[in-house]
Amino acid sequence: MGRFTYPRYDDRCGWNALLPKRMPRPSAQGEHRVKYAIIGGGYTGLAAARRLHTLDPNAEIAVLEATEIGEGSSARNSGFASQHDLKLDLSGTQLVHADTLNACLREGFGALTDAMEQGGFTCEMQHTGRITAAATPLGVEKVEGMVSRAKTLGVVHRFLDRAAIRQATGMDYYQCGIAIDEGHLLQPAALIRGLADTLPKAIALYENSPVVRFEAGPPSIVATAQARFLADHVIFATNAAIKNFGYWRDRLVTIFTFAGLTEALDSQDAANLGDPAWGVLPSHRLGTTLRRAGKNRLLVRSLYAYEKPLDLQHVHNALTSCFHRRYPMLKHRRLEHVWSGTTALTMNGAPRWGKVVEGVYGAAGCNGSGIVKGTLLGQRLANLIVTGQPQTDVENVYGQANWVAPEPFRSIGFHAISAVERRKAGLEM
Ligand SMILES: Cc1cc2nc3c(=O)[nH]c(=O)nc-3n(C[C@H](O)[C@H](O)[C@H](O)COP(=O)(O)OP(=O)(O)OC[C@H]3O[C@@H](n4cnc5c(N)ncnc54)[C@H](O)[C@@H]3O)c2cc1C
Repeated sequence: MGRFTYPRYDDRCGWNALLPKRMPRPSAQGEHRVKYAIIGGGYTGLAAARRLHTLDPNAEIAVLEATEIGEGSSARNSGFASQHDLKLDLSGTQLVHADTLNACLREGFGALTDAMEQGGFTCEMQHTGRITAAATPLGVEKVEGMVSRAKTLGVVHRFLDRAAIRQATGMDYYQCGIAIDEGHLLQPAALIRGLADTLPKAIALYENSPVVRFEAGPPSIVATAQARFLADHVIFATNAAIKNFGYWRDRLVTIFTFAGLTEALDSQDAANLGDPAWGVLPSHRLGTTLRRAGKNRLLVRSLYAYEKPLDLQHVHNALTSCFHRRYPMLKHRRLEHVWSGTTALTMNGAPRWGKVVEGVYGAAGCNGSGIVKGTLLGQRLANLIVTGQPQTDVENVYGQANWVAPEPFRSIGFHAISAVERRKAGLEM
């Protein structure tokens, strides 16, 4: 047994700050005996809880969330949700699985829309498609490659030249881009709050309840500062924080990335933002993501840090520079909310999920697309636990995260690769 930590942030999630105040559920107290304990109340944990309840309706299910719902990474993201993997850089083997992959993503996305419909909540979700834009010659090559693969695959798309991007987004910054019809934008804090607040009554959600002690069973012991749960099955839905419990350290890297929301713009300034709703992804993976947020704000996401956050003032300045370089006419406008968030990266882009040890399961490593993929993996973990059936389609399309070198090699490698990639990303940062 030992003491463990969880991601703590010095900043508030901007998306959450835009919503009305919400009363968190009480923290866990006392002794409990449950069939299922889920550590982490993000997309993965809540999807697992819902699915477990559907498959095993009389079981006691507890979800323990370290912070309050709306302040974890599930709310701190950019709100891009996709039911197709159209990165269009799939390797040959992945292409063979493309239909299965897209069926899996549709299942994850469908679980979210079902929950919204049944729970009667919304999260400003819009079908916007998404643009991948290039600001460098290397980026242009990537976009051209994507266009040619989109043609081969019959994916609905449009090539955007500089003027077309300017018209769509107001940015005279990118040389070209590809607009793909598929893709939704949503308000992630509203989504995760809606999912939590409409959980079936039989699922006990405890907020502000960090698990600080764990002992694998069965039954396993899951303890917070003031409560102890004995559980037949435990799911670690903590993303990279599972490493704090000694598991999967050789598979996952914790990455911080950062986002900011502008202040609300008046109609004159908002007229510079192009179409009413759009999202732009960079062609380089270290580049900057931008999207409109509601009617009159812009979201900027950029920068990466390895295992720990960056100084927030530095982040504020860097994100402001990303915003102003793209919108020089809005230099008098500032970012009102700036925040950090963690996610888990794996070397080959595959998640790590499934059984950890007897009676203990986990899912982590959605590599920046956990809204849909985390939901899918959470559901499938529940299927695996209750039915005992392998989830072959998911295993085939995603595979498993491969080995990452231990420290100090991993941080040396990360810093070396990111220095090279930063140079390549250039103006896309
Ligand atoms: C700035 C940013 C932008 C992103 N943009 C996108 C995007 O546009 N689209 C997309 O799909 N994904 C995006 N992502 C990634 C996405 O947010 C994650 O993939 C997703 O949140 C993973 O969901 P999860 O439930 O697996 O993990 P999390 O959302 O991290 O949830 C895990 C939960 O576990 C809790 N926890 C951890 N340790 C403990 C403990 N000891 N006890 C109790 N609870 C604990 C945490 O507090 C957390 O709430 C982005 C991430 C960031 C940071």
